[in-house]
Amino acid sequence: MKLSLIVPCYNEQEVLPIFCEEVTRVVKELDYEYEVIFVNDGSKDATLDILQEMCDKNSNFKYISFSRNFGKEAAMYAGFCNVSGDYVAVMDADLQDPPSLLPDMLKIIESGEYDSVATRRVSRVGEPPIRSFFARQFYKLINKISDADIVDGARDFRLMKREMVDAIVAMGEANRFSKGIFGWIGFRTYWMPYENKERAAGETKWNFWKLFKYAVDGIINFSQVPLSLASWFGLFMTVVAFLFIIFIVVRKLIFGDPVSGWASTICVIILIGGIQLFSLGIMGQYIAKMYMEVKKRPHYIVGKSNIEGVDKIR
Ligand code: UDP
Ligand code: MG
Repeated sequence: MKLSLIVPCYNEQEVLPIFCEEVTRVVKELDYEYEVIFVNDGSKDATLDILQEMCDKNSNFKYISFSRNFGKEAAMYAGFCNVSGDYVAVMDADLQDPPSLLPDMLKIIESGEYDSVATRRVSRVGEPPIRSFFARQFYKLINKISDADIVDGARDFRLMKREMVDAIVAMGEANRFSKGIFGWIGFRTYWMPYENKERAAGETKWNFWKLFKYAVDGIINFSQVPLSLASWFGLFMTVVAFLFIIFIVVRKLIFGDPVSGWASTICVIILIGGIQLFSLGIMGQYIAKMYMEVKKRPHYIVGKSNIEGVDKIR
């Protein structure tokens, strides 16, 4: 049996040596053949040099280096397209996904009851409170309005069988949201809780705004509910308008016609204008996604790699 690890790296020069040490320590004790595929996502620091050096020393290490920064999703996809293991895991380079969980994860998957072992953090220690709040709301919302079953605190760190990897590779969409994809393809998943760990070294690449956009992308990628909001708003406004007309007619019949109501007219115009623009905006989001999807641009372009026969453009 062979274990493959996929490690996306973007400017991880500080943490990579620590990561490699930790991973080899854990994997050596396992009774598996293994490979670690590092995907250098267009790093601007010495990440690539470090990777090349490490790969020269250890033949189980491989790297794929992108021609520029394509994002973590593309990096994971490149990994999935090139792994050869029977069991495959994705993990961050910063040791926030502890390799020490791997032996237990392998045991669970070996027992045959599950096809995948996913991790979720039970605490959000070391994270700003507003971010935690929004993260929680996001998970609640996306579970309500999509069939991508996503657990609160789910990480991308998961171990899975070959069948799952094949399914993920087959989902060739350009707008990738892995948490959703993992949930969407199904299979029996065991959720393993663990305490949040802070980054071992280096810096996070995410700020609040990036995370917010990522969340909106996730929703748009996996739910059509926002699109139907426009119809519901429209219906609601129509009903309100009818009631209003009846009210005005009755008032005219009873009290005559005192000319007033400039303020309320303006309010209604602004409200409806706002709703219309909002609805248009939602449609715009979907059209933008369709635009990118229809172009069928490659997910990533490989600049350099030590894997033979790697697809340079995919
Ligand atoms: N990453 C990447 N491409 C990017 C941003 C991040 O490959 O454009 C990698 C990064 O090197 C790390 C993982 O994705 O291995 C998670 O990134 P980070 O630790 O910054 O995110 P956080 O853990 O703070 O959510
Ligand atoms: Mg991290």
